[in-house]
Amino acid sequence: MTDYTLEDVRAALGRGDKATARQMVDLVLKDTPTVEGWLLAAQAVETRDDAIACLQMALRLDPANAEVRAQLQQLGVTPPPVPAPEAVPAPSTPPAPVRVGETTTYDEGVYEMLWDCKFCGTEKLLGKTHKFCPTCGATQDPEWRYFPSDDEKVAVKDHVFVGEDKMCPSCNSLMAGNVEFCTRCGAPQTEAARAKKLSTRTRGMNEKFDREDRDARQLAEARGLNAPAPKAKGRPWWVYGIILLVVAGIGFALFSIFAKRETVGTVQAFEWERSISIDAFSAVPGRSVCTSMPVDAYSVSRSYEQVGSRSVPDGEDCSMQQIDQGDGTFRQQRVCTTRYRQEPVYDYVCSYVVNRWTPSRTARNTGTKETALSWPDPALACGGGATRLGCERESGRNETYTLKFNAGEKRYDCAVPFNLWDNARLEQAFTFQVGIVFDNPDCSTVQPAGG
Ligand SMILES: [Zn+2]
Ligand SMILES: [Zn+2]
Repeated sequence: MTDYTLEDVRAALGRGDKATARQMVDLVLKDTPTVEGWLLAAQAVETRDDAIACLQMALRLDPANAEVRAQLQQLGVTPPPVPAPEAVPAPSTPPAPVRVGETTTYDEGVYEMLWDCKFCGTEKLLGKTHKFCPTCGATQDPEWRYFPSDDEKVAVKDHVFVGEDKMCPSCNSLMAGNVEFCTRCGAPQTEAARAKKLSTRTRGMNEKFDREDRDARQLAEARGLNAPAPKAKGRPWWVYGIILLVVAGIGFALFSIFAKRETVGTVQAFEWERSISIDAFSAVPGRSVCTSMPVDAYSVSRSYEQVGSRSVPDGEDCSMQQIDQGDGTFRQQRVCTTRYRQEPVYDYVCSYVVNRWTPSRTARNTGTKETALSWPDPALACGGGATRLGCERESGRNETYTLKFNAGEKRYDCAVPFNLWDNARLEQAFTFQVGIVFDNPDCSTVQPAGG
């Protein structure tokens, strides 16, 4: 902190006291680097090289400054071309809403964060405009930033985001995200840490944002650093009980399906069954939306009725968000999800009759090893050759061969392949797997014992 001002420097230069002017301007610039200060410094130094160095510092602060550029040219230095004013602003038309799934985000502008100077106590400084305190020259501390209230908001026009602010690793000054060398100390900013961002805050559409309580947040953060991690809130005991029961139930189900033991059984009897499934051509009632009615439907009656419902967009539910961008600004956006209501859908519904082949009956022959194998006589109505109401046709054949086992006190029936059944003898021993829980035989494992 110095009490000197640029006026004092100017006065010293006016007296021709360059040495004093140099000392004073050095102190002033350490606090508050300004173009004007560096211009005076260029007059106060002794050599041409020093003057050029001062003018180049000024140029860093304001690359387009005409006075600085003119003086550099006078000293025989061609200043670098004026950088194009921040690339592609001019978003004169508001950005189009961004739609992700059911959520639409509407841009509501970019505003300055506020900050308080922790050295001199100046309040409500602008996060983007004031990288340094205009009162005392101290650097902005991003930890001292806060969201303004709705009434305090200062809009940033045509904002171009150049990355989060950096903290100069050498002098700890706050620098814009695209600065390569510290404007205060000249140190390279490649290793610089980025300014921490505040967490996003949200409110309903008919509420206002208050000014964020920076003191309270800093206090909470300071406590959070010392306080032990909060203990995870335990679930009530019965939740664990239910989980345990479910796990036990699944375990038991798996156990009953897969847990098996081997059993030996002796053949007590043989059974076979041969069956033929039969369809009948029948009048079948049906009901559907008339446009998808079968073409051969008859006895049709129509009615207009509700056949379902559909979701119809019915406005949006919105909330307002403020998102810290880390460069001294925050973005405000309206986030909306589409609301739906159900609307009944009406259509013509037809009741009708169609003639279709439908499963009707099964013809079956059964017997033992002493009975000759034979298919049943299906005795099809209309002889199976006609498609008229009441006529019949075959739709499939099935045959099963069952061995009946004794295993100690227990009895098991197993359907097996014909060869196995045909070659088996009475009292012959077979092994097979049996489920431990339900005592059900796994008939795919039947094989002659000792084979
Ligand atoms: Zn200050
Ligand atoms: Zn620095």
